[in-house]
Amino acid sequence: MLAEACDVVVIGGGPAGAVAGAILAAGGVDVVIAEQKVFPRQKVCGEFLSPGAFPVLARLGVLSEILDRAGPEITSLTMHPSVGLKIKAAMPCDGAGRFARGIGRHHLDTLLLDRARRLGARVLTPCHVRKVVGSSDQGFTIETDQCGVIESKLIIFANGRPPSDGQPTSHSKKMRQMVGFKTYFNQCHLGADTIGLYGCRGIYGGLLRTGDVGGEPRYNLAFVARRSVMESVAGANGLLSRLRQSNHALDRALADAQRVDRWHAWGPLWPGVRRLFDDGKFYVGNAAGEVQPLIGEGMTLAIRSGALAADTLALGLRGGAAPSEIAARYEVLWREDFSSRCYWGNWFASMMTNPVAGFLGSLLGQIRPLARWGVGASGKKFLAVSGTNIRSRTVRGNGH
Ligand SMILES: Cc1cc2nc3c(=O)[nH]c(=O)nc-3n(C[C@H](O)[C@H](O)[C@H](O)COP(=O)(O)OP(=O)(O)OC[C@H]3O[C@@H](n4cnc5c(N)ncnc54)[C@H](O)[C@@H]3O)c2cc1C
Repeated sequence: MLAEACDVVVIGGGPAGAVAGAILAAGGVDVVIAEQKVFPRQKVCGEFLSPGAFPVLARLGVLSEILDRAGPEITSLTMHPSVGLKIKAAMPCDGAGRFARGIGRHHLDTLLLDRARRLGARVLTPCHVRKVVGSSDQGFTIETDQCGVIESKLIIFANGRPPSDGQPTSHSKKMRQMVGFKTYFNQCHLGADTIGLYGCRGIYGGLLRTGDVGGEPRYNLAFVARRSVMESVAGANGLLSRLRQSNHALDRALADAQRVDRWHAWGPLWPGVRRLFDDGKFYVGNAAGEVQPLIGEGMTLAIRSGALAADTLALGLRGGAAPSEIAARYEVLWREDFSSRCYWGNWFASMMTNPVAGFLGSLLGQIRPLARWGVGASGKKFLAVSGTNIRSRTVRGNGH
């Protein structure tokens, strides 16, 4: 059964896929987004949305709706490594004076996918992609569980996973094979304008206020744990107890809090840069590269790389460029924007989970310019890049 035929199939309707599909559809490209889950759905995430994503969201016309559902502006960061001193740093804002926000993924992802639909993308959900065969020469055949077969000229993988044969080309050996957990608490002792990061050997996590529910503040607690630690601790509650026992700052923050949701788990995580292109197949978001959750840049990378791939593709398709030429441009721009975040993210994660690195890092973090530099190295120095800049850089890369 032939269900659909199109120019581009996007596999996955998370932030990367929804943004890529929305921008392609807005540019007149015939695009199908296949998403296996029915939205709204929960996603394991710390839900810290960095302002680096705002220009793309504004360009798509969804920024104000997203900010309406988000928590208060996050203007400061406190880091409590496993051993050592607390580090405090100010969070930078973007060129328009906007700060990061906490936003539930059930809101963000649903708004983005709806926007893609309204801009003309054909969104198939639930639609689990089972198999992809073909090449850029012959076109692709995509077999799905619920929607039959889809045929397309090109594919964007936005499925949040590395390709099955594509382990990261750069990653910290110690930090790979981590599993992530998320839940929500009420009544936490944490400033509404603050994100708290907490570490102990083999585990690190973050706490921040997301949008309120029924007038009551709601806090997201997300953490990652190494598999080796999980072998000796019983489940998410056991891991959280371990983190609280070792990190008194987190224990104080949760002293009067109650968990108001079940635990959600996701893994394994594979921080690092992967393949960005392979014969007509483009990779965006976590499928292309994964940053350490600690630095709160994963959604921004997903949103910006989705936009970058879509802009590059739309221009290339219009100009009759070969997929490999389009890919070369995409790769240069991707690495320029994201490579250093992947690298420094691993370094900061080691600092949170390794007592020696944590102690030394916390001493250095007392030097204010160094703490500021650390925030910048996590990616937040790119805040002023606007959606228009992304487009004009793509145009330059295209030689038009
Ligand atoms: C513990 C933890 C905390 C984090 N905290 C933060 C944070 O505070 N801030 C931040 O910015 N980032 C954070 N991240 C990272 C962030 O969640 C990811 O980087 C982001 O979700 C990547 O978006 P994506 O669109 O690439 O993939 P995803 O969000 O994973 O979306 C992929 C989509 O593809 C669909 N899919 C998968 N396979 C198929 C298939 N075969 N067929 C059809 N559909 C399919 C899935 O259902 C899913 O909806 C955190 C991650 C973890 C694990």
